[in-house]
Amino acid sequence: MSTESSPAFTGVVALDGPSGTGKSTVARRLAERLDARYLDTGAMYRAATVAALRAGVGLDDGVAVTRVVETAEIEISTDPGAVSVLLDGEPVDAQIRSAETTAAVSAVSAVPAVRAQLVAAQRDLIGDGGIVVEGRDIGSVVWPSARPKVYLTASAEARAARRAGELQADVAAIAADIARRDGLDSSRAASPLTQSADAVELDTTDLDIDQVVDRLVELAHAAK
Ligand code: C5P
Repeated sequence: MSTESSPAFTGVVALDGPSGTGKSTVARRLAERLDARYLDTGAMYRAATVAALRAGVGLDDGVAVTRVVETAEIEISTDPGAVSVLLDGEPVDAQIRSAETTAAVSAVSAVPAVRAQLVAAQRDLIGDGGIVVEGRDIGSVVWPSARPKVYLTASAEARAARRAGELQADVAAIAADIARRDGLDSSRAASPLTQSADAVELDTTDLDIDQVVDRLVELAHAAK
């Protein structure tokens, strides 16, 4: 959606933060508003996890997990209107969101060699820019020169309630899963979830999606 007065965005927006902050939804809508591409890096770690689970390797065996991910072909679309992930040519959009994959993804994403491989692929996809990239380490590791660099937060209660709504699951169980995943993602040795010193923090607890997207559009235009 571009207007004559606002040409397509040519920079790189980094959107980081823990799960349940509404990152994916706002990142996709932001990309549409900016007439930019969209990259969901979490979907890449999830596809790598599907590969590891299918291969049946122990998730605590970093060498074996790395070997599987090195030979897996992960292709991801950067069209915000047609999000899709292929693993070895097969669409795995449902599988990457399964409870089994969600439970295993933090272990796979903690393997340094897996991160190195996926970060390199992400940098290739970012290329010349014109893209909104969401994840945990975009502003800190993948693309430190991204502008704006935004760190989304929300209260633990709001995050659990949002995820429970999306998944139609029990709030208490979701809250426990989010806390477990955040703990693992924040404490891993290789590029943990962390807020860059130069990131703008945006607390989405009391904002709806449109309000968050409006604020991000302003930040993106201000960064030009
Ligand atoms: O964003 P999403 O919840 O789909 O990410 C799934 C998992 O992928 C995260 O819990 C984290 O372990 C990993 N991840 C990561 N670095 C990123 C994006 C996701 O480690 N840039």
